[in-house]
Amino acid sequence: MAPGGSTCKEVIVSHPTVADYDIKAENNNSLAKTSIGLAGKHGICSNNGVNELLECPVCRSLMYPPIHQCPNGHTLCSNCKNRVHNCCPTCRYDLGNIRCLALEKVAESLELPCKYQGLGCHDIFPYYSKLNHEQHCHYRPYNCPYAGSECSVTGDIPTLVAHLKNDHKVDMHNGCTFNHRYVKSDPNEVENATWMLTVFNCFGRQFCLHFEAFQLGMALVYMAFLRFMGDDNEAKKFSYSLEVGANGRKLTWQGVPRSIRDSHRKVRDSQDGLIIQRNLALYFSGGDRQELKLRITGRIWKEE
Ligand SMILES: [Zn+2]
Ligand SMILES: [Zn+2]
Ligand SMILES: [Zn+2]
Ligand SMILES: [Zn+2]
Repeated sequence: MAPGGSTCKEVIVSHPTVADYDIKAENNNSLAKTSIGLAGKHGICSNNGVNELLECPVCRSLMYPPIHQCPNGHTLCSNCKNRVHNCCPTCRYDLGNIRCLALEKVAESLELPCKYQGLGCHDIFPYYSKLNHEQHCHYRPYNCPYAGSECSVTGDIPTLVAHLKNDHKVDMHNGCTFNHRYVKSDPNEVENATWMLTVFNCFGRQFCLHFEAFQLGMALVYMAFLRFMGDDNEAKKFSYSLEVGANGRKLTWQGVPRSIRDSHRKVRDSQDGLIIQRNLALYFSGGDRQELKLRITGRIWKEE
């Protein structure tokens, strides 16, 4: 119990072998510093040095409690501990189950910049609030809003607009009104491939118009909705309307665009958009039931 003090002794490990592990080798340097830091020789004189102590020598990410160490004092994060089968990656001693309470305490006293500093966030946070902030940081990158396939691209809005245009070949339109035709030769198709994305430039901002087919309960439906390329608080400043119809009938929808922070699937599953039953969609399409041919008109405006 309470190994914090006693296990921080300096043990000379000559040329540790880092073998058998499919993980990044650590460098001895940071381990040496770990011992000094815990011995308290210099106290916390430089945030940078202490910051390094808290970097897991194996995976290089910041360590959060429980921080583990081997009997020789080599620290590692709990993720890495689970991956190394109880064998210290540095000295290959049995890891056991030793917490490094001293380092956990040191972490408590630190304040670190948000990891999105490079993207414009200049806030500084106590070590343990940093993670929580970063999950909600206004400057954190957005995920690519393209819905058709798993796309792992992230970035700020201008980056994503360029990415949609260049890599996904998405149609870009200027203007706050639209009149769009969706044609599908097989109206029975409900695979994921049955969706479309168009981007509108309007009020100097970008909006994604999604159109897709999916199974809602037992019924096949089509759905159109708008997502805003920005945060939720800004998305709320806009409204939009959608209209679809033919032969003297029409469906209309008025809504508030959802932020692309909300995944495409989340918006779809909350049914926050214009939903068109298949039968009605086919009726709007001209009635021969061989083809889906919908004309969707719409408008985006700014609320006071
Ligand atoms: Zn790690
Ligand atoms: Zn060790
Ligand atoms: Zn931040
Ligand atoms: Zn993408």
